[in-house]
Amino acid sequence: MMPKTHFLLGALFAPILYFIFHAGIVNSLIVLFASVLIDIDHYLFYAIGKNDWKPKNAFNFFLHLRKRFEALPKHERKKYHTGFFPLHSIEFLAISIFLLVLGVAGIFTSFLLFVLLGFSFHLVFDMIYEIFIAKRAINKISLIYTLSAKRFIGF
Ligand SMILES: [Zn+2]
Repeated sequence: MMPKTHFLLGALFAPILYFIFHAGIVNSLIVLFASVLIDIDHYLFYAIGKNDWKPKNAFNFFLHLRKRFEALPKHERKKYHTGFFPLHSIEFLAISIFLLVLGVAGIFTSFLLFVLLGFSFHLVFDMIYEIFIAKRAINKISLIYTLSAKRFIGF
């Protein structure tokens, strides 16, 4: 799903948090920005992998990659993944929640809770998009599964 769509969805969700759940303006904005900035893992994957730090090139790369992926026959698509995105993973969420439960975040606990809320909000819409709109299997929710069962489609 495109970053601008994530931003629009976050911009609808933040006022709900603020007005209905009384989360406060700062926390509502943390959720909004976290729901968009989680995609930094896509940018870093491209920038580090290609040693090219131009955001526009990264954006175009993923547009092109998606076309290449969708041009594959369905049975072929299952063999590949489109990158290593650690923030887009159930493992990252699980470890973060575990660390929060342990209380290691200290004074950052509430900040991290709202960041995780933003990340989760983003992931729910990524999943809805992948399953119902792009009509493909979710390929980025589990890092362990993705990296053990699939090959990177390549740069
Ligand atoms: Zn995403």
